[in-house]
Amino acid sequence: MVNTSKLRIEYQCPQCGAPAELSETDRLFSCAFCRVKSYLLASGYFRYLLPHKATADQALFYFPYWRFRGMLFAYGPEGVSHRFVDASHQAVARGDFPISVGLRSQALKLRFVSPDTPGHFIRPQVDAARATEQLAGRFTQEFPRPILQQAQVGETLSMIYAPFYVGDGLVDAILNRPTGHRPDAADLTEALPGGAPDWRIRFLATLCPACGWDMQGERDAHVLACRNCQSLWQPGRSRFERVGFARVPSCSTEAIYLPFWRIKAEVGGLALESYADLVRAANLPRALQPGWETLPFRFWSPAFKVRPAVLLRLARALTLVEPFAAKEPTLPEEQMLTVNLPVTEALDIIRINLAGFLRPASRVPDLLPGLTIRPRKYLLVYLPFEARQHDLVNDDLAIAVSRSHLRLAANL
Ligand SMILES: [Zn+2]
Ligand SMILES: [Zn+2]
Repeated sequence: MVNTSKLRIEYQCPQCGAPAELSETDRLFSCAFCRVKSYLLASGYFRYLLPHKATADQALFYFPYWRFRGMLFAYGPEGVSHRFVDASHQAVARGDFPISVGLRSQALKLRFVSPDTPGHFIRPQVDAARATEQLAGRFTQEFPRPILQQAQVGETLSMIYAPFYVGDGLVDAILNRPTGHRPDAADLTEALPGGAPDWRIRFLATLCPACGWDMQGERDAHVLACRNCQSLWQPGRSRFERVGFARVPSCSTEAIYLPFWRIKAEVGGLALESYADLVRAANLPRALQPGWETLPFRFWSPAFKVRPAVLLRLARALTLVEPFAAKEPTLPEEQMLTVNLPVTEALDIIRINLAGFLRPASRVPDLLPGLTIRPRKYLLVYLPFEARQHDLVNDDLAIAVSRSHLRLAANL
């Protein structure tokens, strides 16, 4: 069973202090009291803690767990397998602490970690890459072997600190209940270095950096739009950065625009410079047209969350057709789907996408280890779709997306 419940975070408006509740995928916070909008910014990853019920005289230890919510893809002899994952994993490998956060994080409201939180925050020792690898190992058991290429497309990668203290053995401070574990060390503070957290959540005003206008976006938006000066912005390390965009015009005024990342990458170990190279590499049943030898090859990916199978299908379909997009000075006036899959996540699917369309498939196992892919630049491209009863359809590209898949994606 896939558990798709999201964490809830209790929190206060940075402007007026009013209490608020967020979902872990929320990025844009709009205060119901003072109406001020702010964008949540984390250096690195988001860090939460679980509430405790310990008495004030207990010395609290906060044990770190990586939390991964997202999609796993694996390329093997039978093609690409995928699944959705929602799990946590120790960020310090310790036999004397529970192996995961368990289901408690879904029943309780979390809070953001801040430097003034009392307690000993144990420093993580397993980095994010290694933790997702270990998680992937746990969740890809049923995939066909051998796995030749693997990818994790994270919706969220965050850290959850769970409180413990030493009493009758190691005590879970959430419930004040013994864990059944005995600490391995007499002095846990010494055995598990850490201290006060040096992290806090930050807020950015949602004002357009270019013109000062109020930017728009849904609560889980990773790209905000300024309708005044027609620009798009995504969070960088400490401020908003401009996102280049293009669109394919539509003659219909009823069109719904879906956002896609178009990624130009240097591929080493395979001739894949131009669209003509792609037609040959994927053995597409198409006669080479003039201009295809100089038309650059690019990877495409949805810029919105959708089920793993649909994400991969759309990424492949668009990469193989390479829609012609012209840079337009204005955003579409029509409905635009929220960008909630950042380009960094879209990059993770590139190798799986490539492995899936190379022909003959029999040469892929030998090719893969020698392939290098270096992303160089990207563009956000809006493609028009027509709303039919069950699907959104782009006839020119022969691509359809089930409307129910898009609705469902809100729960992912
Ligand atoms: Zn407020
Ligand atoms: Zn602006």
